[in-house]
Amino acid sequence: MTEFKNFIGGEWVGTDRTFEDRNPVDNSVIGLVHEAGRAEVDAAVQAARAALHGPWARMTLPQRVELLYAVADGITRRFDDFLAAEIADTGKPHALASHIDIPRGAANFKVFADMIRNVPTESFAMATPDGGEALNYGVRTPRGVIAVVCPWNLPLLLMTWKVAPALACGNTVLVKPSEETPATATLLGEVMNEVGVPKGVYNVVHGFGPDSAGAFLTEHPGVNAITFTGETRTGEAIMKAAANGVRPVSFELGGKNAGIVFADCDFDAAVVGIARSAFENTGQVCLGTERVYVQRPIYERFVDALAARAKALRPGRPGAEGTTFGPLISQTHRSKVLSYYEQARADGAVVVTGGGVPDMAAGLKDGAWIEPTIWTGLPDGSRVIREEIFGPCCHVAPFDDEAEVIAKANDTPYGLAATVWTRDAGTAHRMARALDVGICWINSWFLRDLRTAFGGAKQSGIGREGGIHSLEFYTELRNVCVKL
Ligand code: NAD
Repeated sequence: MTEFKNFIGGEWVGTDRTFEDRNPVDNSVIGLVHEAGRAEVDAAVQAARAALHGPWARMTLPQRVELLYAVADGITRRFDDFLAAEIADTGKPHALASHIDIPRGAANFKVFADMIRNVPTESFAMATPDGGEALNYGVRTPRGVIAVVCPWNLPLLLMTWKVAPALACGNTVLVKPSEETPATATLLGEVMNEVGVPKGVYNVVHGFGPDSAGAFLTEHPGVNAITFTGETRTGEAIMKAAANGVRPVSFELGGKNAGIVFADCDFDAAVVGIARSAFENTGQVCLGTERVYVQRPIYERFVDALAARAKALRPGRPGAEGTTFGPLISQTHRSKVLSYYEQARADGAVVVTGGGVPDMAAGLKDGAWIEPTIWTGLPDGSRVIREEIFGPCCHVAPFDDEAEVIAKANDTPYGLAATVWTRDAGTAHRMARALDVGICWINSWFLRDLRTAFGGAKQSGIGREGGIHSLEFYTELRNVCVKL
């Protein structure tokens, strides 16, 4: 049985409190996770603080860039280990994890290494009252110790998306992976040691949120800034912890994203795009679409075509031929998603397809399997339309004109992403401007250029990361004013 230990100052640290890590495909126990208490979190913070003044701080920028490239190559060298670990933790299909999670997880280190190598800072020459001149220039310094609190849906990818820019900027990090997916963050510790990242620069503490490693870490006064991806409600708790010491936060939170399909769209492309956005990763993508609005002339045809794609998804073991659909992350999460399936029925939904649990083969019956589900006919006030479900499901409603669909799409406390399908350039640009979201895709979904700003509006987040936008959070911008 694998043991997932904490990674503190480059060493593996066990504790006497362990919990089970289960495979959602069949509910088998994969390993035992060593939960960090206050003492381990404190030791990790001290290690990260000490590393701010060690060899890491003395590295030149080219040396740091080279090391980040070595981390990326180290992940790629152990691609199969990372892939196996991620699949065992999440149950996601092999094709998905091997094309997205692991390669993009590795690529994050190169992208942010390139960014930091090339980014300029500002400078302003100014006239002074005595007729002379002064020169102002910006210097970016690391913020210090960064806590990185992660979710379970894209474990390696979302963790490295924050660890890579944090390290590129010269900080040290303390990662708290989700209790559901401890494996790849732990493996990354091995890679850090293999490629020679100085001890204490990358640390991992395992455990849960409240009264566990998550809370101990975010409450710790030795942490200078907190970056978090997860539920909006958790973000509220972390923000309260961050208020002590007025520490900055960067939040990527929940969503209840709209997909908007105009009658003039490329019909087949829109069906494929919306099906991906609703069902990929078993609907466990923060950017996913749970509310679909389709213009009336193509509404019925669209619902039928989307249902056909949902029915074609094949649940099964991650590596089995033909598997295109994994389980949910856990039995607990399945209970939550199924409660919304019940709520939809209670609120009078027409269940177009799905709505329950599939009949799986022997050996898989204890997994967290669920059917991809499409509803129509729900009233706008239904909780199913208003709350984030984070499962493979969507409600499809018709609309007549642009103003109506903009009002419906924006009628939510969330504001993460939207996907709009139209062939009319004017419609596309007007929609992009009118929707209250951080990311608006036109005729696409989850197409990411890592140089662009990523983040949510309203209750979907605080701040933007990606490209040079990451510098705002991971560095202090100091102005130096020199009287000449
Ligand atoms: P979650 O909020 O339950 O947990 C996320 C992490 O926070 C876990 O590591 C957990 O242990 C920790 N945590 C929980 N309570 C804490 C506390 N009080 N103090 C400190 N840490 C605490 O989220 P999840 O269920 O793991 O992930 C799903 C959620 O993440 C969804 O809401 C989804 O929309 C969101 N998400 C958002 C983005 C984005 O980019 N906006 C990306 C992925 C997921």
